[in-house]
Amino acid sequence: MGSDDTTGECGHRHPEAGFDLDDRLAAREERGLRRDLAPTERVAARSRVAADPRGEPPTFDDPERLLFATNDYLGLASDERVQRAATEAAKTVGTGAGASRLVTGDTPVHRALERDLAAAKGTDRALVFSSGYAANVGTITALAPDVILSDESNHASIVDGCRLVSAETVVYDHCDADALAVALADRSRATDDETRLVVTDSVFSMDGDIAPLAAICDIAERHGAWVMVDEAHATGLYDGAGGIVQRKGLGERVQVQLGTLSKALGSQGGYVAGSDALIEHLLNAARSFVFSTGLAPPAAGAAREALAIASESERRHRLWSAVDRLREGLEAMGYTVLGETQILPVLVGERAGAMALADRLVDHGVIAPAIRPPTVPTGTSRIRVAPMATHTDAELERCLRAFREAGRAVGVLDE
Ligand code: PMP
Repeated sequence: MGSDDTTGECGHRHPEAGFDLDDRLAAREERGLRRDLAPTERVAARSRVAADPRGEPPTFDDPERLLFATNDYLGLASDERVQRAATEAAKTVGTGAGASRLVTGDTPVHRALERDLAAAKGTDRALVFSSGYAANVGTITALAPDVILSDESNHASIVDGCRLVSAETVVYDHCDADALAVALADRSRATDDETRLVVTDSVFSMDGDIAPLAAICDIAERHGAWVMVDEAHATGLYDGAGGIVQRKGLGERVQVQLGTLSKALGSQGGYVAGSDALIEHLLNAARSFVFSTGLAPPAAGAAREALAIASESERRHRLWSAVDRLREGLEAMGYTVLGETQILPVLVGERAGAMALADRLVDHGVIAPAIRPPTVPTGTSRIRVAPMATHTDAELERCLRAFREAGRAVGVLDE
């Protein structure tokens, strides 16, 4: 639509005056904050793609590059069994749910997936949403606590959930259990029936670090608060396809376990696992569940199969050994690698250095994005390296070589 076209398809007039969208975009551009879509040719064989993330839509003539930039950590989005399960669900149930789960969109594949998720999480029940984003926003607004205590680095969908409720939201320092304890102690004069929710990601996607969940549970219990953990970047990666809550044996102490089906499970959608009462409440009161079409059946079928594959240890072991090899190789070259999970943030410092390194890595056949302010604090720009279970040993070595050569070329590593 041309910029002088002021009429939308449905006939509403779209007066541009006042909104100054071009100016807003220009201001973003000036601050280096303008983003663009990142075209990719296909999701199959996802650890290698024929794409250049620097803008142009891919063509089949592009050279293949190694992808260290997806959340499909186990490579299950391109697994034939998962693809077959999606196809099967499309054929037997339909490509779309057709309506909200509360109307006519509740199908056997949704129910089966929810049973499997509850089993993996050790909870009474689970409920799937159309995205992890919708799960966070819907859950926080449906719980409608009086007070929310939220880690400062929590995902945007948690932040948006907090913005939509009238709760007082206290943001505590990142992964700082003492700061959380102080924030809750400050509320000791509040009424006893005040409802309090502590909410945190388990694995933080830009730092690759893990929330101090046991300490958080201790503090929450002392103050009668509930704990809600977003396991988006951990689901499927630990024993029994669980997350950090399972790994640390905290299932009984975390009231709301939430996550996404779109990362290690290679599908789409979000989930909440918890008590019968919690799930019953959410399916009545979470507006992003009630007023949204049920998760697409192929996504549910795929996630169910992926969960079964992730519960076997082989894929997970392959991922963790790739993570160890890359961390060790990068550190041996002199890079500082943050975190303690499958997400390897390679610290560069200044924005320009990180951008130059990411750009040069593409020339060396590796796609790994630069993460810069405002996503991360000034002076901590980094390259986010996400290995996959499907990377071969030779590909990991190629990635390390690329980091060595690109790092030297842009002056981030000494000669
Ligand atoms: N929580 C966290 C911690 C995430 O990283 C993401 C995705 N980036 C989400 C929630 C949202 O999940 P989805 O992509 O399924 O909407």
